Amino acid sequence: MALLELDNLSKSYGGTQALRGLSLQVEAGSVYGLLGPNGSGKTTTLGLALGVLQANGGTVRWFGQPLSAATKRRVGALLETPNFFPYLSARQNLLLAADIKHAAPATVDAALELTGLKSRQHDAFKGFSLGMKQRLALASTLLGNPEVLVLDEPTNGLDPQGIAEVRELIQRLATEGKTIIIASHLLDEIEKVCTHVAVLQRGELRAAGPVSAILASTDRIVVRVAPD
Ligand code: ATP
Repeated sequence: MALLELDNLSKSYGGTQALRGLSLQVEAGSVYGLLGPNGSGKTTTLGLALGVLQANGGTVRWFGQPLSAATKRRVGALLETPNFFPYLSARQNLLLAADIKHAAPATVDAALELTGLKSRQHDAFKGFSLGMKQRLALASTLLGNPEVLVLDEPTNGLDPQGIAEVRELIQRLATEGKTIIIASHLLDEIEKVCTHVAVLQRGELRAAGPVSAILASTDRIVVRVAPD
């Protein structure tokens, strides 16, 4: 049984058809990349999978079940940058986030540990580097100890050091047993961190499978050169 199964998903926004019959399966334990240029439908796919957008057709199943409050609790998502309080510490910000999410406060410690922020937990968010801010954002997705993380362009806007930190962290979380779904328009990011990839173009699936197989094929050229 796939951990996430999208079957024939379609979505339009007014006259814009953003997804056209998208089907894919994510297996537990994979780091699954959604790769495609801007406007190819990556964010729409994640929004539908998480139930923050309504599909015009098709189905979403997590852990073999339809999306529900119970399945949502097993999935941590980072779709946009969370608003942290600049003058509160990393720990205080996470405690507030845990309260809002009804996540056990004990999971704050685990999240700080996993993201390597324990030694900086009492420092104000304001003084953090871009990479550390994004590590804290990732820590907030770990509250409640979800099995799956869904991340939309997690290195966007970061400096090179921040990008390296966040990619390393994603790899570490994968080795800790999290299944990770990550949308990115960056081929090298997908190559570095993902085990599997689905290539989207204009709302359609172009190819899907293990990264080594897909990126070695001719689709590699399509991904590199074709803007939407
Ligand atoms: P990006 O990296 O730029 O976010 P993406 O691959 O995530 O791109 P989507 O954001 O899913 O792609 O967009 C897919 C298509 O749907 C694009 O043509 C986009 O313009 C359109 N679209 C997305 N959101 C909306 C919206 N709220 N209203 C109208 N059109 C939208």
